[in-house]
Amino acid sequence: MKRFAVLQLSGCAGCEVSLLNADAWVDQFKLTYMPLVTSVYDVPDVDILLISGGVRTDEDLYKLRRAVKHAKQVVAVGTCAISGGVANLGDRDEVRELFLAQAQRHHVPRLLPKTHPVDAYVDIDLYLPGCPPTPELFMAVLEEDSVFKPSKIVCQECGRKKIRDMRPKHLLGFQQGNVLPDICLVNQGYLCVGTSTRGGCRAPCPRAGHPCVGCRGPSDVFIEKESAAWFTSIKRVFNSMTDIPDEELDAALRSPQLALFLFQFSDYAGGERAIRPKEKVL
Ligand code: SF4
Ligand code: SF4
Repeated sequence: MKRFAVLQLSGCAGCEVSLLNADAWVDQFKLTYMPLVTSVYDVPDVDILLISGGVRTDEDLYKLRRAVKHAKQVVAVGTCAISGGVANLGDRDEVRELFLAQAQRHHVPRLLPKTHPVDAYVDIDLYLPGCPPTPELFMAVLEEDSVFKPSKIVCQECGRKKIRDMRPKHLLGFQQGNVLPDICLVNQGYLCVGTSTRGGCRAPCPRAGHPCVGCRGPSDVFIEKESAAWFTSIKRVFNSMTDIPDEELDAALRSPQLALFLFQFSDYAGGERAIRPKEKVL
């Protein structure tokens, strides 16, 4: 029986909850380590190591470097491991100052100056983006003979129709108004970024009437490209489908609400790290 472990670094444990929902692995794989549900204290030798959470503290970095030595295959899972995610929001100076000012924090790990994705420190065999990845995506990683192929973009899984004669003049915000069924959310004035977001999640958000915020990261055409390419493309989509002014789109696309996930769209392009090749992204 294949053995796998889940190393939880700084994150929210949403990925672990999603993995537990994928109960199909229970009869096929042995979960040897996951602090949320096991009382094992260190990562044993495993076939697959899933890493969730970003590297926010010296303890994260220590655990990460130790754990990868025990694994045949290393998979970075979810927004936090791939892009810093929730822990990345704590990079704001004032939050850090407040935290460091607490005199009693002897047992709290030391914060590193900045959150880093795990591939800033160790080699990754496969990336599994999503916040969290769905149970089906976890199974696609665990199963050796999986034939799962994500759709190119979320729109292909959404089922809503893009129409010509419905051109909103302004954005509606994220969750205002009554969402019409079956019609593309962009036609209705919602800031849905499904046109450039990697498929594979089965579009649970837009199908339920919530705009896709891009948690699966860039589709293949935007991987290895700078964030400017993504901004240009998403604005082109809105220009062709709506009459929303560019300034309004710019402000909304740069809003903190989207920042958590949109970091990911440029993180694949390299910068300080090696480029993440699309062949390694599920
Ligand atoms: S833009 Fe959003 S709502 Fe429209 S088809 Fe794509 S995913 Fe669905
Ligand atoms: S629809 Fe978009 S935001 Fe929702 S799970 Fe899929 S990629 Fe993430």
